[in-house]
Formats: sequence, C-alpha cells, structure tokens
Amino acid sequence: MKKTAFHPLRKLAIAGNPNRPLLGAKVYTPPLTAYLEEHGISPAAFQALTKKLNGQVVTPFDPPYASGRMDSDNAFNRYPLMIVYCTGSADVVEAVKFCNEQNLVVCMRAGGHSTEGYSVLDGRVLIDVSNIKGIFVDEAGMTSTVGAGVTWGEYNQELNAYGLHNPGGSCNSVGMAGYTMGGGYGYTSMRWGIACDSLIEVRMVTAAGEIVTANAKHNRELLWAHQGGTGGNFGIVVGMKYQLQKLKDVWPIQVNWPIDDAAKVLKTWQDKMTKTLQDLDLGLLGFLAIEEVPGKATGGESCTINRPYFCIRGIYSGASKEAAQAAMQPLLDIGTPSFPAGPLWQRQIPYAAANEHLLDNVEGIIPDTIKETKRCAYIERALSEQEFQKMVDYFKTSPNPYNIVSMEPYGGAINKVAPHETAFVHRNAYFDIFTDSFWMQDSEKAEAFRWLKDYYESPDMKGLWSNRYYQNYVNAEYKDWQQGYFGENYENLQKVKSHWDPDNRFRYPQSIEPAK
Ligand SMILES: Cc1cc2nc3c(=O)[nH]c(=O)nc-3n(C[C@H](O)[C@H](O)[C@H](O)COP(=O)(O)OP(=O)(O)OC[C@H]3O[C@@H](n4cnc5c(N)ncnc54)[C@H](O)[C@@H]3O)c2cc1C
Repeated sequence: MKKTAFHPLRKLAIAGNPNRPLLGAKVYTPPLTAYLEEHGISPAAFQALTKKLNGQVVTPFDPPYASGRMDSDNAFNRYPLMIVYCTGSADVVEAVKFCNEQNLVVCMRAGGHSTEGYSVLDGRVLIDVSNIKGIFVDEAGMTSTVGAGVTWGEYNQELNAYGLHNPGGSCNSVGMAGYTMGGGYGYTSMRWGIACDSLIEVRMVTAAGEIVTANAKHNRELLWAHQGGTGGNFGIVVGMKYQLQKLKDVWPIQVNWPIDDAAKVLKTWQDKMTKTLQDLDLGLLGFLAIEEVPGKATGGESCTINRPYFCIRGIYSGASKEAAQAAMQPLLDIGTPSFPAGPLWQRQIPYAAANEHLLDNVEGIIPDTIKETKRCAYIERALSEQEFQKMVDYFKTSPNPYNIVSMEPYGGAINKVAPHETAFVHRNAYFDIFTDSFWMQDSEKAEAFRWLKDYYESPDMKGLWSNRYYQNYVNAEYKDWQQGYFGENYENLQKVKSHWDPDNRFRYPQSIEPAK
C-alpha cells in the first residue's frame, strides 16, 4: 500500500506509466503482418507510415503497448489497434492520412485523464500527442504557446519562473489540451475565469489531414468550439496559445472541520463567497472525505477508525496575510475549525509549490491498483442548510474510506462571461459538486456505481442539482448529456462539427453529432 493516483486530495500517477501491469492480457499471434491484414491494414502502408514519422508506432507486439494502452484510471482496460506517438504536427498529419487511406477510426490522447477513458478505445488507432512538448512564454505580450502534450505540472513550473499564470487544474499530470477543451476549473478560476476563457488560439489537424489555426480573426467559430466543446470532436489539437496573468507567490490555505459543521459551512460559503464573493484573490475547493484516526475497538484495544470530515483547501493571492485571514473569516467563525498543517496563510510560497503542497499534505493512504468512477452536477439555486445536510448525510454512507465529494465554487470571473460567448455554458452556478467512487475488487464495482448513482439520482437527492453537468467530468450514464454538458450551445457545436468533420471521423459515445 502506498500513496497513489486518482484522488482529488492526492498526487496522481502519469498515464502510460511503464511500470503499470498488463491487466487481463489479450493474446495476439505474431507475425505483425498477419495482425495488420486481419484488421484490413496494408502492411506496406504501415511500413511507409513508420518511416515517415519522427515519432513511433507501438503495436500489441511491442512491450510498451502494455502500459501505453492504459489511461490514468485503472478502471479502463481497452485495446487500441496501435498507438502512434507523435512528436509534432507533421506526425499527426501522417497518422490521420494513414487512417483515412486504410479506413481506420482514430481516438486521441493528450494527458490520458478522461474520466470515461474516451482517449483510448478498442479497435481504434490511438493518436497520442503526449510527446508534443514545449512551452514558449512571451513576457511582453503576456501570452504562452504550448504543445498539446504539456501537463499542468510542467506548465505551472515553467510559468512560475516568470511570475505568470493561467487558471489550471490542481492535479499535475492532467493534460492541458483535454482540460482546456472541456473548460478547466482551478483555484484561480473565480479570479480569472475557466481555463478556456484564457485560450486565444488553437492549432489542429483536421479530419482531412490539414493543419489549421483558429483565433479571434481566423476560424473564430472553431476557437469558440474549443472553449468548452470538449476534446475528440473537431480535429487533433497540436498546440494552444493562452493569455497570461501575473501571479507568483500565494498563501496556501487548509482548514478542517468536524463533519457536523459541514452543512453550516457550506451554507455560508454558498451565500457569502460564491456568486457574491468580493475578494477574488481567494480561491477554494471543498471536500467531504474520510480520515484514519486513532480509536478504540469494542474490546478496548487501540485501533484506527475511519472518520468523515469536511475540509477546505485553497490559495490566497492578495497582498497580505491579514487580507487572507479576513477573506476566510466568515467560514472560520463557524463551528470548530482546525489547521492540520498550521495556519498556512502565515507563509507565502510560489503558486506551483502551493498547489503541490495542497495535494501532498493529506492524511491516509490509498492502494495503487484502485479503480474509480466519477459523477458531478451543478447547484444553480441557493440551497438551505437542511439540503446541504442531505449531501453530508449521504456521504456518511460511503461503502469505503476512499470515496470523496468535492466542491468547486462558481461566481466571480466565471459567471461574468455570457453562456453563449464560449462553448462553456455553465455561467450561473453556485457550485459544481463532483464525487469520486472507488473500488478495489471487481465484486465491489456494482456497489461503487450504485452508491454514486444514488448520490445524484435517488429521490431524496435529485432535487438538489440542476440538469447540468461539467463536461470535464464526463460520465457515460448521463441520459441527456448534450443538454447537460452544453445546454443551448449544443446546436452551434453541431454546426462547427459539420463544417470541420462532416463525415464524423472523430467520434466516441458522447461526441458532438454533426448537424442533420
Ligand atoms: C485525477 C484527475 C484530476 C482532475 N482534476 C481536474 C481539475 O482540477 N479541474 C478540471 O477542470 N478538471 C479536472 N479533471 C478532469 C480533466 O480536466 C479532464 O478529464 C480532461 O479531459 C483531461 O484531459 P487530458 O488531456 O489529461 O485527457 P485525455 O484523456 O487525453 O483527453 C480528454 C479528451 O480529449 C480528447 N483529446 C485528447 N487529446 C486531444 C487532442 N490533442 N486534440 C483533440 N482532442 C483530444 C480525448 O480523446 C478525450 O476525449 C481531472 C481528471 C482527473 C482524472
């Protein structure tokens, strides 16, 4: 047992970790030519592809396939036909043309953190852009140009050296490409908006194998679609350009409350510090989680017990620790808060280090081979304390100590943007509430899914949520996902899809359908 991936309060593993075991291995019979022919692929065309690429093709006959076919969540166990690791646009163009000529369907991967594993699909050619790196900062112009394979950990570290920033995810191994295309929430989103609000240009390879650029002047609708329209739909993104903000040192914040205080804190947080938040330097996330604490067994002997608790983590990016304290005071006045790592806002540290610290400094352990499913819903009307209590009480029924409910507050810069201005429609929420449900053994999987589904859909809980879902936390079970993810923007997304991918070559279970 050791600290591991897949938990919002814990540091995550990198997708495609070479040490990852091969799960439920399929047996392929060599030679490669027979395998290619069996799948209708010309061996000569395959050979030609491998010669043209700067990158590499990995087939099931190559040892790196075993780890390469895995996404970040062990729950997905899929077998692409082959993986094409691209190092730049030219490789992506060659891979797309090869697939078109051989009539093969593609899937595409950047950071590999899709919560439904949509970046690796059975029987497809997986075009992987994780080796397209490079971060170029234009300090004078306050912009950055970033390869589609860059992760948030890499980007934060680089920007930190310049004292510059983009709102980004708390998990370092999440890919910037997938994250930004689905919106992108982070500690500084109340201050500077959802990450896609800072996206000013994308470069992608089309379904026809051409390189196009979209910005405010050229292909404006295509840029709009990448600002929340989700990945895997319009083309294969190879690079992004962002508007930057100035940010260097921040005060990290970490406060715990006993579970009995949670509903009161949540109610005050909603009423005073979401839509009406005045001090936008404050960026917080909330969690209902379970910690291991010393206790006594029924026979009186010492043991550890699992205790649910509520915590808030975040950063303050304003001028002084007094201001940080004042911004947090409405919450600190409630119940009996405690400070497991000390009153962190006494100490200012670089943003990247604060983010790292808030992920690392947690109680408990989580097994390395754990599997996960995730759901979310928006709160779009003000809830009463009793309604927040329902959220808390249901959480206490968690069948294991790993499950966690997370709260992303909305308001500030996020809600200032009109719903149709970008493809990211969710501009009127108080919170996005997302829940991670885990299981170890296959026999526990059905219970993990049932517990999670009931959190959002049981008669007692259903009334808490709006009918909207955050599209970066995709879940295959959402019935009306088109409206849930995109609302009134779905129709326009379909028009963009029809223009750039009329034959629907880029498709998966929840991809945008071309307009009829
Ligand atoms: C542990 C964890 C922590 C997370 N933390 C946050 C968070 O703090 N805030 C937040 O907003 N979200 C968060 N997310 C959600 C995350 O932003 C989304 O899952 C996002 O889509 C992941 O992007 P990726 O590039 O890592 O994933 P991938 O699985 O590689 O891609 C996601 C989707 O985009 C497509 N895609 C990938 N590359 C390209 C490309 N080059 N061009 C076009 N389409 C492409 C894929 O096919 C897939 O459909 C988290 C997810 C996990 C698993």
